[in-house]
Amino acid sequence: MPIEHETRDGALVWIRNPITGVVSYVVDVRNKSFAFTLGLRDEPVEPPHLTDAQIHAATKDCPFCPGNEHLSTAELFRMSAAEIPEWTGKGNRPHDQWVVRVFNNLFPRIPAELTAGRNESYIVVEDPRHYVDSPRSHSDLLSTAMLGAGHFRRLLEADVRVMRLARENHSIRAVVVRKNQGRESGASQPHPHQQIIGSPEPFPAVAAEARAERETPGLFDEIATLMERLGLVIENQGGVVSYASPIGSFPRSYDVMMPEYRDATLADLSSDELDCFAGALYRILRILGPLPLDYEIHQGPGLPLHAHVNARFYPYSNVAGTLNLPSTLLQRTAEIRTAIARGNRR
Ligand SMILES: [Zn+2]
Ligand SMILES: [Zn+2]
Repeated sequence: MPIEHETRDGALVWIRNPITGVVSYVVDVRNKSFAFTLGLRDEPVEPPHLTDAQIHAATKDCPFCPGNEHLSTAELFRMSAAEIPEWTGKGNRPHDQWVVRVFNNLFPRIPAELTAGRNESYIVVEDPRHYVDSPRSHSDLLSTAMLGAGHFRRLLEADVRVMRLARENHSIRAVVVRKNQGRESGASQPHPHQQIIGSPEPFPAVAAEARAERETPGLFDEIATLMERLGLVIENQGGVVSYASPIGSFPRSYDVMMPEYRDATLADLSSDELDCFAGALYRILRILGPLPLDYEIHQGPGLPLHAHVNARFYPYSNVAGTLNLPSTLLQRTAEIRTAIARGNRR
């Protein structure tokens, strides 16, 4: 069955997500007032910088900050500055400091009883820095966008190591990589980190995608082709396609997909393939910058490797399976393409 949608004069009017059935309608929201949401983000015009005392007070109990290693569960591994030469945080920090640090989540997402008694929820701390340099407010947190492409790729290498650890547990059948950035995205810790979760059964969201692909063979290829036709593709190179998704969970959702790369995981990618996937994902994260967002990497039997990115700052409402998309979608996608091309030339 083709993906149900309607275009008028070449522009998308509505589209049904073939997996969830949610219908996205493109609407002109330019004249709608978002006063409530915007009001929440009000900040003084010229906010002062946080003092050292304020920074200390905010980070002294952060389990992900250097010096607080004793507040987390036992470390599984770390990556040093020597292993991440692209790290931009060197400055006057000690050279022997870790840059990426991995340990079990104190609060397993899936109870250990269901995974052969082993906690299979992991935390990957992305960087020792909690805030940006000279933060002006407590929301001036380091974001993944500031890590740089090389560092982000190393982060995915760390994820692969974690996935191998999880796979040593024979009760684990699926692994997901998840990131929440910013309080509005549901992040519980402000310090930049990823979560990796091993599950004894396929994750429901991923299983639903695999089921849809089974029932409609070629569905994911069709999605990629349709996005191209609708003018929503951001990049398409090295076997990785990224696009602004009109069938995402939020009005501003982006997917990164390897249509030819099926039934396998991040851990099976060659070095070049990992480069391409990490690069395409990172460039979207760089465009979104410090905005609240989440991303999730989906992998498993019957599916092409892919990631969903959701920008979480914008107002939205999914009412009974209907979602509104801004009519500026096409224009914004073109702007993202231009910004990425500009960034690549730098
Ligand atoms: Zn911290
Ligand atoms: Zn997915």
